[in-house]
Amino acid sequence: LEQNERESLFIALNFAKDFFVKNLETPEGRSIGVSYFKERGFTPQIIQKFDLGYALDGWDHLLKAAKSAGFQEEILLKAGLILQKEGEPERMYDRFRNRVTFTIHNISGKPIGFGARILTKDKNQPKYINSPETPIYHKSDVLYGMFQAKKAIRDFDNCFLVEGYTDVISMHLSGIENVVASSGTSLTEGQIKLIKRFTNQVTVLYDGDNAGIKASLRGIDLLLEGGLNVKAVVFPDGEDPDSFSRKVGSQAFQDYLKANSRDFIGFKISLYRDEIAKDPIRKAEVIREVVQSIGKIPDPIIRSVYTKEASGLLEIEEGILLSELNKNLVKTQ
Ligand code: ATP
Ligand code: MN
Ligand code: MN
Ligand code: MN
Repeated sequence: LEQNERESLFIALNFAKDFFVKNLETPEGRSIGVSYFKERGFTPQIIQKFDLGYALDGWDHLLKAAKSAGFQEEILLKAGLILQKEGEPERMYDRFRNRVTFTIHNISGKPIGFGARILTKDKNQPKYINSPETPIYHKSDVLYGMFQAKKAIRDFDNCFLVEGYTDVISMHLSGIENVVASSGTSLTEGQIKLIKRFTNQVTVLYDGDNAGIKASLRGIDLLLEGGLNVKAVVFPDGEDPDSFSRKVGSQAFQDYLKANSRDFIGFKISLYRDEIAKDPIRKAEVIREVVQSIGKIPDPIIRSVYTKEASGLLEIEEGILLSELNKNLVKTQ
């Protein structure tokens, strides 16, 4: 029975994907959805590759189409495609309306959910509306773009990790296909396990704003704990991989990534460079932070390599780092 339900959910999600994709060919979809994507530099090929689509303006376009195709409301609800009106649960309406849609695929390419972006700058509505958790969409085990990225991740033995849907797509347009997005939430163990099926090396490319830097620092520690080799790149203030790649062009973007990839120690030091230079107390805090991150690494040999590196870069005796490291290791055992 449960298997049947999962199968129905997959079929419903696939129906919705086809519906949103076909909407791009309607007059409304062309003038609003396709123009939106065009303005962002998305080509017809990339729209197709990522199953981008458009949710029409109106309360029940998908609901009506799905019902006439034979889907029961119960399944559409479970699939996260429709919502019940508050106080009148028998009245249902589309979750995604008047937005461009980003199809979220599982690792074998089946649609399991959607992200949908608002088309205006209306601050009273959320920029993105996403599918809820469902029996076929466990958010903590999914990374956006993994289906399109997995081969390239294996081939390059590296996975770029970005925040947003549009970062993934713009990087493909820049010729970089080994990229997945955490979709604005903090990284989970399940997502790290997923990456480890394809590579042991992650390069974190989060947004160049305070939120992005904070999220990078958290993500880096989790990735280190998972036994991955971690690099990170800082983008200029306010830029994300999408905006920056479009600003400077594919070649300069690729060059920037090469020139600015740092291991996690170099990343932290470059982040705090000015403060470290001015303030010895701040420098001590940064040293402690670096040691804490090193302490997350499960492999003692790799830990020792990084301790040596940190000692050189931070100009502090290795012995002091080691004793601090041992204090942390004892605490966590
Ligand atoms: P865009 O370039 O279209 O403005 P973005 O990806 O740069 O989008 P960010 O604000 O950087 O947007 O957010 C990163 C990611 O976080 C988004 O791609 C989306 O997955 C998620 N996100 C952002 N805002 C929301 C929201 N209001 N609700 C749910 N998820 C969101
Ligand atoms: Mn951001
Ligand atoms: Mn962003
Ligand atoms: Mn962006």
